[in-house]
Amino acid sequence: MKTAQVKQDKIILKEVENIKLCGRKGAIVRVRGCGLCGSDIVKFREKLVPDGAVLGHEIVADIIEIDSETEFQKGDRIVTSHHIPCGECVYCRHGNVSMCEHFKKTNIFPGGFSEYVYVSEEHLKNVAQLVPENITDEEISFYEPLGCCVRAIKRCGLINGDKVLVVGLGSIGLLMGEGIKAMGYKVYGCDLIEDRIKLASEMGIESFNSRNLDSFNEKIQAVSGGIDAVFMTSGADKALDVALKVVRKGGKILVFSSTPNNAGYPNNEIYYKELTVLGSYSPSPQDLKDSFEMITQRKVNVKNLTTVYPLEKIQQAFDDTISNKIFKAYIKI
Ligand SMILES: [Zn+2]
Ligand SMILES: [Zn+2]
Repeated sequence: MKTAQVKQDKIILKEVENIKLCGRKGAIVRVRGCGLCGSDIVKFREKLVPDGAVLGHEIVADIIEIDSETEFQKGDRIVTSHHIPCGECVYCRHGNVSMCEHFKKTNIFPGGFSEYVYVSEEHLKNVAQLVPENITDEEISFYEPLGCCVRAIKRCGLINGDKVLVVGLGSIGLLMGEGIKAMGYKVYGCDLIEDRIKLASEMGIESFNSRNLDSFNEKIQAVSGGIDAVFMTSGADKALDVALKVVRKGGKILVFSSTPNNAGYPNNEIYYKELTVLGSYSPSPQDLKDSFEMITQRKVNVKNLTTVYPLEKIQQAFDDTISNKIFKAYIKI
């Protein structure tokens, strides 16, 4: 079977032996396509994975072989995520499911950018979903990324009428904006790239160039004390200045991205403005269920976000994502 593997600073195609169930519970799936996640880019660019690693986890696939106690059957088109929390450890009991050791250990094999993938019984039981016929592969490929957004929004504990600013309007920022809207809160967005601001505005996210932050801030201060929660989906150090400027006293800053210099949060702003700064990493099975519902009931608009590449052009997909040429790549396999 064909796989795409990391080899130093390239992604290469490599033929490997087909995988089979071989007596294991679970399913072998034929991958139809897999979304290229920001975390794949980070792993590739910062060399966090060894040569030979198969990246990708946002898969849509057909079951071709199955031995399972679930209701899934051969021929089903499914979507799944890759990690499952144990539900019992200290992290799980405190709601930090993505810090759970079992969560980090569980995965699909060998990775999403592969013709065939092994999906374990545990995945089938907890995080796999049957895709309805009227939903396209590309739409449902947002299942896991939107799940991440849903968890972040829930963690923020927003209340009716809250105003949220998303800093950074790349694919995950736009998706976050869609999620915030769908969950009933007012959302604004900002970025430095005009194409992104334009698309966000078309999607109904009131957006502005971060250079015009002061005039936005004046407007928002006039109607309320400021922004109730700022979502940091941009990987830029400067995003922190934006957040501190617009967040109201007692407001929240939700960190959803790493930054190059790991810039710190200033002590005094947190103290005097009584801010809450919190991170959100990966989704729980419940967040994924919510995400599935939001996509299949078309409460979020995920069309126009993806650019499709065949597996043979996966290097191009990585390059175009890194150079901000596209929003989100979907690799058709
Ligand atoms: Zn992802
Ligand atoms: Zn756990």
